[in-house]
Amino acid sequence: MRFSEVRGNRSVIDALRGMVDSGRIPHAMLLHEDDGGGAMAIVQAFLGYLYCASRHDGDSCASCPACNRVAKMIHPDIHYVFPVTTGSKVGTDKPTSDNYLTWWRELVLRDPYFFENDVYAALGIEGKSGNIAVQEAKSILSKLSLAGMEGGYRTVVIYLPEKMNVQAANSLLKMVEEPPENTLFVMITHAPEKVLKTIASRCLFMRILPLGRADRDAVHPDENSDDQVFMDLFSDLMNALTGKDFLSSLECGEAIASLDSREKQKSFCKFAGGAVRNIFLLQQGMSSIADIPQQYADFYTTMAGKCRKTFPRAAMTNIDRALTLLERNVNQKILFTDLVDRLYTSI
Ligand SMILES: [Zn+2]
Repeated sequence: MRFSEVRGNRSVIDALRGMVDSGRIPHAMLLHEDDGGGAMAIVQAFLGYLYCASRHDGDSCASCPACNRVAKMIHPDIHYVFPVTTGSKVGTDKPTSDNYLTWWRELVLRDPYFFENDVYAALGIEGKSGNIAVQEAKSILSKLSLAGMEGGYRTVVIYLPEKMNVQAANSLLKMVEEPPENTLFVMITHAPEKVLKTIASRCLFMRILPLGRADRDAVHPDENSDDQVFMDLFSDLMNALTGKDFLSSLECGEAIASLDSREKQKSFCKFAGGAVRNIFLLQQGMSSIADIPQQYADFYTTMAGKCRKTFPRAAMTNIDRALTLLERNVNQKILFTDLVDRLYTSI
């Protein structure tokens, strides 16, 4: 992966390139992406550039031995850490990322724009709750106690540091605070507020912007089929709400609750969050940064006119709340009835 192959996020890429060019690389970075946002693609391109023996034109050469090792994720000085637990592929009692490295590598190489759930599926631990435990922290420390293999930077890439337990974070803290020379921590989070403060406060924070629609459609083609279903549900719901038709609104809630999996219901909530954001942007006269497909321009314009100015904010809060509750296995029918009720009173 080269910088030129990464989709979107040019300003983040410029910043990362500038760090390498100037030799002023922060020893710990926290990249905040939305799930499936491709932060790993950016990290891979950054590492390629950092380790490349003959960078040129602001990018890695993609052909030197170092570039090859980074691209295949087999560079001896780059370590990957991600949430794991005992599962069908690794029965070990206290597994570390190393036990799962083969499947992790396969996934990232196949699709650097993967979703969190793709990781658990690839590792064979779907439906379980993976974490970064103390044995993982010990493994990192022992790797970093050895000299770098190739004399350059040693990098630890941590995917989802919010899954790190306190014990692991405490073992790693000193290393993140004052790492040995030429040691980097690059972390990718979906929930910066859940990363332990002691760790997060040592990191340079960078926001990875969500991909635009065209890029998103290109990297997640399977999502498109759902998008249509979600848009239909969302527009039915908005029409019922703005028409002050409570019964139809409740029926929409039932339709959302009967989407065939909790994951799909979560995806709908994320979709609805994006759609409400579009309404908000239109109401604020910022249509240029909204993400509205041409065929829905009229729908969004109408809705922006019909909703109260306070609706989008209230709706986003309630949609976030629904997402959190979905994680906690709350009864879906009750949850979406409640959501619709809250939206109805704020429309
Ligand atoms: Zn190279």
